[in-house]
Amino acid sequence: MVPSRIAVLGRGVVPRGEPVLRGDDLGVLRGDGLFETMHLRDGRPWLREAHLARLRAGAAAVELPLPPDDALVELLDAVTDGWPAEVEGALRLVCTRGPEGGGLPAIYATLGEVAPGSKRARRDGVTVSTRSLGVPAATRPELDWLPAGIKSTSYGASTAARRWAARNGVDDVLWVSSDGYVLEGPTANVVWLDGGRLCTVPAATTGILPGTTAAWLLEHATDVGLGAAERMVTPDGLLAADGVWFTSSVRGLAEIRTLDGTDLKRSPHTRELQELLGFPLR
Ligand code: PLP
Repeated sequence: MVPSRIAVLGRGVVPRGEPVLRGDDLGVLRGDGLFETMHLRDGRPWLREAHLARLRAGAAAVELPLPPDDALVELLDAVTDGWPAEVEGALRLVCTRGPEGGGLPAIYATLGEVAPGSKRARRDGVTVSTRSLGVPAATRPELDWLPAGIKSTSYGASTAARRWAARNGVDDVLWVSSDGYVLEGPTANVVWLDGGRLCTVPAATTGILPGTTAAWLLEHATDVGLGAAERMVTPDGLLAADGVWFTSSVRGLAEIRTLDGTDLKRSPHTRELQELLGFPLR
């Protein structure tokens, strides 16, 4: 096991256990901050530029000042420096609002080995239950005060959904709108195969997180002879699909094996999509 690490902007790697943010930081008090999670492969963060671009878009939406990209890259370089190339890492970049009443934000990066559960999900797939998010699919992007599709450190709904899944004997949850459309998982986008097209839910019209993994996969669908499209779908639509997956930065691609207790068709494409994405399958 490679020991996990933390690096702080301007300080580099700090000893584990050393405090890196203040107790009155609004990131802690209010979940007022943004983060990105990246897959470290061959010692480098995969899709780093896409993650930094999403972070910057989120920061503009919540008026969070960020240091320039080269300072963030320097921070990522510091935390990844010397990490063994053969060990997959989960790399997190966190930027908070800073202390109540003003002061410096906490900007730091954490790096640890990819959890065995994530690798298992990649290999064996996941069981999933749908849960209502309680709002119509189009509502969130229509609210002019609510920034949609940002990766906020305010993750209460996601952790609650994950606890619900654990209590109810499934691996994960798929959020559905009150008007019956599939949205996303608490930490993943949904991708499905429909008549030779890889599909995912449009972020712009639903307010879900625009996933870097799903975007990359759809952009490269033609490499494996598939088309790509953004579409709305219902849970019944997923039951009829030729394959359904969760995609996210660290778990990668995990096939959804059962949805609300119904077995889904196992897809012959799972392996080639995983190979296309380049996540190890050991
Ligand atoms: N949707 C939500 C709510 C997420 O939290 C995540 C990732 O954590 C995703 C989708 C997948 O995004 P990405 O592929 O960029 O990791």
